[in-house]
Amino acid sequence: MLTRRLFCGCLPLVAGFAATAGSALGAPAEPEGGACAVFSRERQRAETPASALERLLQGHERFLSGHTVNCDLRAQVKATAGGQAPFAAILGCMDSRVPVELVFDQRIGDVFVARVAGNFVNTDILGSLEYATRVAGARLVMVLGHSGCGAIKGAIDDVHLGNLTATLANIVPAVSATATADGPRSTANPHFVQAVAETNARLATRELTRRSDVMRDLVKAGELRIVTAMHDVATGRVSLLADA
Ligand SMILES: [Zn+2]
Repeated sequence: MLTRRLFCGCLPLVAGFAATAGSALGAPAEPEGGACAVFSRERQRAETPASALERLLQGHERFLSGHTVNCDLRAQVKATAGGQAPFAAILGCMDSRVPVELVFDQRIGDVFVARVAGNFVNTDILGSLEYATRVAGARLVMVLGHSGCGAIKGAIDDVHLGNLTATLANIVPAVSATATADGPRSTANPHFVQAVAETNARLATRELTRRSDVMRDLVKAGELRIVTAMHDVATGRVSLLADA
């Protein structure tokens, strides 16, 4: 696992995360009401981009360990009826094996989630994330790709089918931009499929600031952090990708 992660450029931050929880890095303090307290504007403003990432990774560690938080979701619905102040936004794939709130052990009102096959960026996704960050105050954006992605495979295979053709066209640049891994440039080669998925996620991250003045300014001001991560559908583990 470690070898593979090093090979793909992933940072095993989750493994090392437990050691930093509660450290000087600033583990988010538990609010009054415990882990099931919903996010208020005040709680959101108390988060930094770094603590928001830490909070997300803490939740993922709970997911991996099987010690997720069990909250009264109906009470959370009532508590968030008057407004929302999520601490993070995640752009992920529609894949049924990557349910974002479950993977990060988050609940009602905690995170924005934009999902589209292949987790690519277009104008609608950019606008949604500008709302999530500049308007609604989320302090972190995570682009979350995953292994075994059908959309990535479809783009590699140049699938043409109805409106899916246009959808997959958003991923084709990642196929072209991926250097040849071990073996052929085809879906028969899992190394290539994984490499394209990582390229695609990194390209999406790059587009967020390249095409959005709003998010670029937030990042420059230190009010927002954007990270790229990959989810392994075989293990459920999320690993941060190093900046390319
Ligand atoms: Zn996918």
